[in-house]
Amino acid sequence: MRLIIFGPPGAGKGTQAKMVAEHFGIIHLSTGKMFREAINQGTELGNLVQSIIDEGQLVPDQTVVDMVEETIASEDYGKGYIIDGFPRTVEQAVAFDNMLERRNESVDAFISLHAPDDVLIQRLLTRGEGRSDDTEEKIKTRLEVYKKETAPVMEYYQQAGMFRSVDGTGTVEEIFQRILSALPKK
Ligand code: ADP
Repeated sequence: MRLIIFGPPGAGKGTQAKMVAEHFGIIHLSTGKMFREAINQGTELGNLVQSIIDEGQLVPDQTVVDMVEETIASEDYGKGYIIDGFPRTVEQAVAFDNMLERRNESVDAFISLHAPDDVLIQRLLTRGEGRSDDTEEKIKTRLEVYKKETAPVMEYYQQAGMFRSVDGTGTVEEIFQRILSALPKK
């Protein structure tokens, strides 16, 4: 099973992706987490993306696409995965489709988590992970970037017929149950 979990910053993608991955025994791939790990380890990729992430802007498409392509090629990903944080632009969505086509694979569902801006901002300000991009100013930038560059990805998947909209407000468990009910029945 291959899933995409999508939504604005603070929608709860990371939390839910982890639960979905454990539930189905698939891998949780978070592009944001991979970048933060690269930064912490001081790798070449980390140095390249650090200032971009600190500013709340998007890493260049090709950098993300190459990283995802390399990652899903590994054997562990054969059982399936849930991707959180990618695709974040229509260009990335097209590149991901091409990549899957080359691999003779497809995505089973695109889960879009939604919540009002005030809920998102409140969650980001209080999650206390100490992220350099969780300041009020950077959160504002990230929400703007989301609306302008990332939200159009929804239409792309609506047209592809795999779009599932899920209410991202309520308790973690409530949202998780909604996601499970929104998934295609095998
Ligand atoms: P959030 O969804 O809370 O903004 P993420 O951990 O998904 O957090 O992403 C953190 C940052 O990493 C983004 O603001 C962006 O700079 C970078 N990033 C992650 N995934 C991508 C992507 N697919 N394309 C471009 N930049 C990305």
